[in-house]
Amino acid sequence: MKLVLVSCCAPCSAGAIKQLHNGEIPDIDDFIVLFFNPNIWPESEYTKRMQEQMRYCESLGVKYKICEYNHDAWRAAVCGFENEPERGARCSICFAYRFEYAKKFARENGYDAVSSVLGVSKHKDQLQVDAAGESAPGDILYLPIKWDEKLRQQINRETDFYRQNYCGCEFSVRNKPKN
Ligand code: SF4
Repeated sequence: MKLVLVSCCAPCSAGAIKQLHNGEIPDIDDFIVLFFNPNIWPESEYTKRMQEQMRYCESLGVKYKICEYNHDAWRAAVCGFENEPERGARCSICFAYRFEYAKKFARENGYDAVSSVLGVSKHKDQLQVDAAGESAPGDILYLPIKWDEKLRQQINRETDFYRQNYCGCEFSVRNKPKN
C-alpha cells in the first residue's frame, strides 16, 4: 500500500518518517511526506518549518512534496472560528482542510491511503485529528497509525531541529502553551 504522510513539521514527523523508512509499518511499502500547511503564520515561520522538513527528508533519502502556501484561503476556511481555543472547532476545520487536500493529492498521484502526525504533540487531541481524517471529503482511506513516541523523542534529543513554541496559526501564537 502507498501512503501519504501529512506532516506539520520535522520535530513531529521525525519518528513516523523513520519508522516508515525502516519498513516498520505493516502493509506500507511506499510513502511520501506531504507538507501542506497554509495554516502556519507568518510566512517566515512557514519557511523555517518547511526547510527543516526538507532537510530531514533529504538526510534519509525520503520523498516529499512541498505544496502551495495560501494563508488567505486557509483564513477564509476558518472564518468565524478565530476565537476558538486550541483543540476547539477551528482546529477540526484546520485538520479537515489539510486532510481534504491530502486525499485529493493521494487520488491524483496513485497513493492508496493517508495518515498524519498532526496529533503527536502533547497539546493535540489524537481522537480529534483522527475524526477529521476519517470525515474529510475524498475517496481515500485514512489510517489512524499510532507512531512510536519514544523514537520520536529520541530523534528530537539527538537532532538540532528548529523547534517552534506554538502550533502554527496566528491564533495559536496568542494562546501558545506555557511550557
Ligand atoms: S491551533 Fe493549530 S491546528 Fe488549530 S487552527 Fe491553529 S494551526 Fe490549525
